Amino acid sequence: MTIEGVSSDSSDISPQEFDVVIIGAGPAGLAAGIYAKRAGLNCIILEKGVPGGQVLTSPMIENYPGFPEIEGMKLMDIMAEHARRYVDIREGEDVLRVRSGERFQLSTTSSKYVSRALILATGATHRKLGAPGEDKLAGRGVSYCATCDGFFYKTKEVVVIGGGNTALTDALYLHSIDCKVTIIHRRGSFRADKHLQDSIAERNIQMLFDTVVEEILGENGVTGVKLRDLKTGVTQDMVVSGVFVAIGEIPSSQLASELGLNQDPGGFIIVDQSFRTSVPFIYAAGDVSGGIRQIVAAVHGGAAAALSCFEDLVNPYYRKT
Ligand code: NAP
Repeated sequence: MTIEGVSSDSSDISPQEFDVVIIGAGPAGLAAGIYAKRAGLNCIILEKGVPGGQVLTSPMIENYPGFPEIEGMKLMDIMAEHARRYVDIREGEDVLRVRSGERFQLSTTSSKYVSRALILATGATHRKLGAPGEDKLAGRGVSYCATCDGFFYKTKEVVVIGGGNTALTDALYLHSIDCKVTIIHRRGSFRADKHLQDSIAERNIQMLFDTVVEEILGENGVTGVKLRDLKTGVTQDMVVSGVFVAIGEIPSSQLASELGLNQDPGGFIIVDQSFRTSVPFIYAAGDVSGGIRQIVAAVHGGAAAALSCFEDLVNPYYRKT
């Protein structure tokens, strides 16, 4: 039974009841919502921000089947709209606490819920470089989102730090909007897809390999970076206005830790092939569960988690032994 109506004060309200609460509205959570609802489960998606997850910050997606070329934001708009046909997405609702028991009890910033199952699709956040100046200049020249902030650096010198798909995609985007881009990578080669590496080479985007950023320089805004060549040990300052950090992600697995789920050494939630976690009736999918961090994989995980949840809650005849 679902009790409708959300109060702004969560302390004195009756919890709303669901079969399954999905936490996170990135690709995994949205796919889970579609599949859970179509399987007949009463479910809801809670999202602390807006739907879309990290894909929102991806300038261009070229490897999601059916969409040869689409901006991350656009793709997620389409996916969220599709999910809303089936399931309510509560935006701006941060899950503060989850208690296990006969049923799960969730407290969010504005409401309370009880559910028989949980699907964690909480994603991941940007890893920080840890260099002096990074925190002080965050939002004042240091950015973790080329799509969001690139516009401010048109015609200016910027560096992108990292050697993965995000760094190269960001560099291509920044180049396309007329930034003067240099990619700084700590190794002698990139780990990004060959297709992206070829695109970087075709555009003659400058690259500095075997190089680290030791410090981000500036007082009220970024004025440069201090670089160290790892082969020669030589340091030099480079004048730039923008620093785009794209060095990977860390899982948003705080709730998983509180729930006692098994996690790998990096904090990613360990799931089986069916996206069941180590605790019954809790499932995890998308970036928070590691694996290949691709939209297509997140969507697969969300769908599989929802179907596992359906099997565990409903125990359909074809599963009975
Ligand atoms: P990633 O693949 O983990 O790459 C992170 C990069 O940052 C690596 O090159 C790494 O160097 C470097 N790095 C890590 N820590 C560093 C540090 N402290 N200082 C300097 N460099 C550091 O991360 P990502 O590029 O964000 O991608 C995350 C996941 O999303 C990946 O699975 C990726 O395939 C996926 N993704 C896919 C697409 C796409 O398919 N279009 C786009 C974006 C992201 P090392 O190589 O030396 O470890």
